[in-house]
Amino acid sequence: MAGLSRRAFLKSLGASTLGLSFLGGITDSADASQKSPIDLGPYRLKFTRETTTICPYCAVGCGIIVHTQEGKVVYTEGDPDHPINEGSLCPKGLSISDLSFIVDKNNKRVPNPRRLTKVLYRAPRSDRWEEKPWDWALNKIAERVKATRDATFEIKDENGVVVNRTQAIAHLGSASIDNEENYLMHKLARALGIINIEHHARL
Ligand code: SF4
Repeated sequence: MAGLSRRAFLKSLGASTLGLSFLGGITDSADASQKSPIDLGPYRLKFTRETTTICPYCAVGCGIIVHTQEGKVVYTEGDPDHPINEGSLCPKGLSISDLSFIVDKNNKRVPNPRRLTKVLYRAPRSDRWEEKPWDWALNKIAERVKATRDATFEIKDENGVVVNRTQAIAHLGSASIDNEENYLMHKLARALGIINIEHHARL
């Protein structure tokens, strides 16, 4: 290992694995050809498309390779070429594929049926969730922010000091957005007079 960098080692390991996988594919090609690419088991990465992305969980910003087949995520791994994590991931980043698929009772990876892809809304005092369009949700949020701010805005505090604030709205997060987005969200919150601004990442 002397003189061999971590990245070079990972790459040579990948090349070896690919070679073994290729040989395995020759010996079992008849069997593998009987199955859909999505059911290839140990060969599941053979027909995948690789896309690089950034872990959304925290501001470390680790690089991840996402393998997809037919538009579905089948595997994720740390990106060895990414300068921040060099292929490693913490437990949260490692389990990121759970957002897209689960392991079923037959030990197969299948799309996670609980993943939310639509807006769900539960009206006040209702006992059920309704599906709503994104535009409806955005307009509803804007209406409620305005109504709350208008009803609670304080120009001066009890000592007569100008404060221009509302304490009825709080802003939380996010660890999933970058510096520029955080800057804009912070600016929007301050412009609205929101002073309760928090973040859920404890780094
Ligand atoms: S949550 Fe973990 S894997 Fe994701 S960016 Fe943060 S340290 Fe990296």
